[in-house]
Amino acid sequence: MAESKINLIGVDVGGTNIQAAVITSSGVVRKRQRAETPREGGAEAILSTVTDAIAQVLDEDKVGDTLGGIGLAVPGLLDYKKNRVDNSPNTDIMGLDLIAPLRKKFNVPVAFANDTDACTIGEKWVGSAREANTAVGVFVGTGIGGGILVNRKLLRGTRYSAAEVGHMVMDIHGPICGCGNRGCLEAIAARVAMERDIRRAIAEGQPTVLADWIGGPDEPIRSGMLRRALDAGDALTTTILTRAGEVMGQACLTLRHIFEPDVIIFGGGVMEACGDFLMPILEAAISADPYFGPRPGGRIVQSALGDDAGVLGAAALAMTEAGLDPFAGGERSFDHYPALKLTDDHTIQAGKKIYQEDILVRVNGRVRKRQKGDDTTRLASAADVTEKDLGRACRGGPEILILGVDNDAPLRAAAQAFLRRRDIAVEMLPRKKALKRFDALKARKALLLLMG
Ligand SMILES: [Zn+2]
Repeated sequence: MAESKINLIGVDVGGTNIQAAVITSSGVVRKRQRAETPREGGAEAILSTVTDAIAQVLDEDKVGDTLGGIGLAVPGLLDYKKNRVDNSPNTDIMGLDLIAPLRKKFNVPVAFANDTDACTIGEKWVGSAREANTAVGVFVGTGIGGGILVNRKLLRGTRYSAAEVGHMVMDIHGPICGCGNRGCLEAIAARVAMERDIRRAIAEGQPTVLADWIGGPDEPIRSGMLRRALDAGDALTTTILTRAGEVMGQACLTLRHIFEPDVIIFGGGVMEACGDFLMPILEAAISADPYFGPRPGGRIVQSALGDDAGVLGAAALAMTEAGLDPFAGGERSFDHYPALKLTDDHTIQAGKKIYQEDILVRVNGRVRKRQKGDDTTRLASAADVTEKDLGRACRGGPEILILGVDNDAPLRAAAQAFLRRRDIAVEMLPRKKALKRFDALKARKALLLLMG
């Protein structure tokens, strides 16, 4: 079978959700299935949820004999020799062998990796690290996980527990970390660490909008709430996030000095929500480094794949397990994009559908209105494009965004930074030319068309 006709399954086994996706060998998510991670029934229940999710998505997408392999992104420490989960603090899958039962049931190669290792692989395959040979992934969420690629290979360590960048000691007198050590990056800069500091400040009587927003002690302060507090100009949140950013910046210096990577990729829930605030702090730390500062390399980028990094990385693992090289950039298929035609100044035909508002076409070929719901406001120029618009258009990690607009006002600096930090090129063209260019381009591409 031609490589371009092969489909993979990528599974992301999360603490809250299990997601299985059908993914092409060009790294496009075709279909996905989500299920809640079972709270009871232990490893058996989780294995059966994973198996059902795979079976369902295979059935829905009619993958048939094009299935080349299955890959799984799994939280915790994994034993790659015994094919089992050694330790997974937040999910009840210790001792579980996920490989043998799935191999038997679906009769294809099956591979797995630690979740943040898989995310790093995903970003290397089709995300913001695709040009990199050596890359470090730092995923900032509830905790901080990592992944390290050296010469395109995962650094796994003697007992497969390398790349725990969250447990890099940043302050020997710092707060105690979940791992038992003091002052780990995670204990200072992860969401739970920020939450601890915010609650302490509130208890000490410091004013903050969060005091009114947060629920009881069991209700977490989520990344989205931190974002809203930043937007509201909350001084406490700004101080705490700035300090977290500065410590992450110092961690980047260490990572850069040890691995000299092409890029350091930042992802995870905190970065998704607050990346535009944190990234300039990280970039400033790197450029102020008196040792490596002016050297090229070690650039900081943001995850281009967001939530999909896990399933995409898992699919890349499946490809490798099936004897293919996902990074070879071989035969790729880009024939899933719809035919687009501007029928008059305010009407576009996309496949069989007619739109009279701004549209976007994502990497997976799906056409969407620029804004959700009934809102049909049109943008007059690229200067009106927000980072939110770009986030919607660039889901799935395009290499290039074609922006179609009939005047040449440039994108705002923040929008340009959004694209630069995800290594997404942009071409701005008059609408008719933009459609032609989009159609002719053989790449992972996205389109944002402003109807003006
Ligand atoms: Zn630690």
